[in-house]
Amino acid sequence: MVIDKNEFFNNFKRAKSRYKELQDVSITLRFGKSPFFTMQALLEPISLFQKKKKYFVLINLKRTDFLSQLSEDNILGWFGHELAHIVEYEKLTNLNLFVFAVKYLFDSKFRYFVERSTNAFAFNNGFALELFLVWKKFISMDIKDINYKKYILENYCPHWADIKETAQNFGISKQIYESMKQTKVVNFKTTAKIKNKIKSK
Ligand SMILES: [Zn+2]
Repeated sequence: MVIDKNEFFNNFKRAKSRYKELQDVSITLRFGKSPFFTMQALLEPISLFQKKKKYFVLINLKRTDFLSQLSEDNILGWFGHELAHIVEYEKLTNLNLFVFAVKYLFDSKFRYFVERSTNAFAFNNGFALELFLVWKKFISMDIKDINYKKYILENYCPHWADIKETAQNFGISKQIYESMKQTKVVNFKTTAKIKNKIKSK
């Protein structure tokens, strides 16, 4: 299976343009291979010794089968999430960022907390619709790597407590949210209704 790299570049640009705090931050998009994650927001190590930190988002080509199932909106939403990590990294000193990276790799509770708050940040900062849809996609996706699917489902579910205000502003009730969390119940009508509500905002 192949992926359309241009589609990724375009949606990466679109996602970045939505974060005003990232307009002057250097972030490139790269395609490469990595053992586990599908996308990762990383620091250019050399930039630790430069005036300004630089970053890149790595797309893991080993997960092409998974990536090729994503729609444009899904890719946009996922970039919204990855770039939210960079908004957070920008607030940290170099030393704190180093400590953060070590904790992220070795402390699964900390990682869970980081992913939850990053997702909430992206959701509440312009990516609500896309993140709902990407979540819906995850649930229904055919992912051969069971451990990875479990990881995704455990770490990327938007939590109602974090997104309540934004969701309600878009007319999404807790009931609709709960139905979206169920594997089977998410029907096309509900999604279309949410999509229209969000678009009309
Ligand atoms: Zn993340």
